[in-house]
Amino acid sequence: MKLNVILPCGGSGSRTRLGYNKLLFDVGGGTTVIEKTIHCFARKDVTRIVLAVADADRAYFERLAQSSHLPIVLCDGGKTRTQSVWNALQCLESDCDYVAIHDGARPFLSGAILDEAIATAIKCGTAVVAMPATDSMRRMGGNGSKALDRSQIAVVQTPQIFRPYPLIGAYRQAIERQLSFSDDASLYERFVAPVQLSRGDSSNSKLTYPEDFARFIPDGFAVGSGWDTHRLVAERPLILGGIRIAHDKGLLGHSDADVLTHAIMDALLGATHNGDIGALFPDTDDAYAGISSMVLLDRVTRLIRGQGWTIRNISAVVFAQRPKLRDHIGAIQLSIASAIGLDPSAVTVSATTTEKLGFVGREEGISAHAYASVFRARN
Ligand code: MG
Repeated sequence: MKLNVILPCGGSGSRTRLGYNKLLFDVGGGTTVIEKTIHCFARKDVTRIVLAVADADRAYFERLAQSSHLPIVLCDGGKTRTQSVWNALQCLESDCDYVAIHDGARPFLSGAILDEAIATAIKCGTAVVAMPATDSMRRMGGNGSKALDRSQIAVVQTPQIFRPYPLIGAYRQAIERQLSFSDDASLYERFVAPVQLSRGDSSNSKLTYPEDFARFIPDGFAVGSGWDTHRLVAERPLILGGIRIAHDKGLLGHSDADVLTHAIMDALLGATHNGDIGALFPDTDDAYAGISSMVLLDRVTRLIRGQGWTIRNISAVVFAQRPKLRDHIGAIQLSIASAIGLDPSAVTVSATTTEKLGFVGREEGISAHAYASVFRARN
């Protein structure tokens, strides 16, 4: 049995208020909604996956198709869903037995639901995934509304599976008459025959509204904040984020007084409920006299990774009147990212003066403020 899959991938996703195609939303780890959806069809009996894509997203989808090991084919999206599917139908394999049309924004389709739908299609010729209505239903009309018998209502999902040739014939008629349909079942029913329903489930919902995307925030997500200040004195090195910076003064402290790294460690410890660096590395302990703060950062990272945390990103600000840090920021970011083992894009450091106000403005000290975000799976 050869199954071809069509995924309409156009649409501005205006209801999600993302400002871009919702299928390109990053669900974490650099994976997009559409990649997750495509993966629902990574199985032997799926021999072609046709994506109908809009011009605006073409470059993204071409990269996706090239880097994927799955049999992905691209076609032009149309102005309407009906037009997009019609274009995709021209790209089916000539010997495919069934075609499944699935919403690109339903990335939670389970293997069990798909298996049942395929079995239903083989037995009955069509399979439209749907689930019983759980909410009470009312028909809206000019004179108010009227209760409907919920037991007779099904909420339609996708995939919807058909034999290719009757479906192509039905689509040809719809296109010739310039008719548009919200799903394939209603089009098929109009021109061919009634469809067979197959079991759906509530997790196979379509990502539509902003709150639908909240489920991609990991359960154990946490943010921490850290703040530190050290005094600027003569004859000390100035070290920020492990990078030594040429200056006529440096920071005073028990360790190397790397104020930025101290703030970052406190942010990480705060996010993970591990107290602070004062408690972990007391300045009364000679073991920490003159120690590189990058060594301490490595210990903090090991501690929290050992507790199962993943560090998502670091964002920090250094407050210094002088020296100008702009030319050092790149090196500082790389240094912190490599010490923590993060992608450089996950570490942002900025620098600001305080317009000559306060102790920073008088060049008596340098402060740093950092945020860290982390997550871990809840057991
Ligand atoms: Mg400190």
